[in-house]
Amino acid sequence: MSEVLNSYSKFIMPLVFSYDMLVNRNRRLSEDFKPESLILPQIPFDSSAAPDDPKRMLESEAAHAAESLFIQSRHDGLHLYGVSGYRTYSRQNELFSRNPETIYVAPPGGSEHQTGLALDVSCPALSLDLTEEFALTLEGRWLTKNAPLFGFILRYPKGKENITGYAYEPWHIRYVTRSLALYLTLTGLTLEEYHSLRLPDEDSEDYGCAASSEPF
Ligand SMILES: [Zn+2]
Repeated sequence: MSEVLNSYSKFIMPLVFSYDMLVNRNRRLSEDFKPESLILPQIPFDSSAAPDDPKRMLESEAAHAAESLFIQSRHDGLHLYGVSGYRTYSRQNELFSRNPETIYVAPPGGSEHQTGLALDVSCPALSLDLTEEFALTLEGRWLTKNAPLFGFILRYPKGKENITGYAYEPWHIRYVTRSLALYLTLTGLTLEEYHSLRLPDEDSEDYGCAASSEPF
């Protein structure tokens, strides 16, 4: 896997912020990329994060959408918690250098958390851990059903690892606006597949993350 990860280091692109922007191991953000408007969403959050920890922040529209999502989850008797939101390039660099071979950790610039549009969530039943078991909890099942209604997709689904380039992560949600979230969920397309369909002729660029291009 490290060979695959290292082979992506040449793909550094000047990505522009948009709610459907595609960031992955192939399409990385520059070191100075930062969303214009980062705010602190009013949602229950992992208390081990300091009150001023940037990981508590999200891009403003995503933050408001997350607030609505959490209000509804609480109304439905669930206990969702935010665990990790915005992440700087340098913080991602630290995480990656500690663990460069795992498919859970993105290389610097290759994490959507740097866009302010991604949020990792968990629940007290798992001690707020980020594990696959989250999908089996009441909160995880509720999230699968309801996240798209608030503009979020489950970004790294099971069975699409070769396209997204990341392991199955039922805890990682990504804001893409409500209309796109509903479209992607109903069609079962990943964001990589959506971009590949939307711009079929843009150079011969491969939007996926497979080591070799595979049809989907
Ligand atoms: Zn995440």
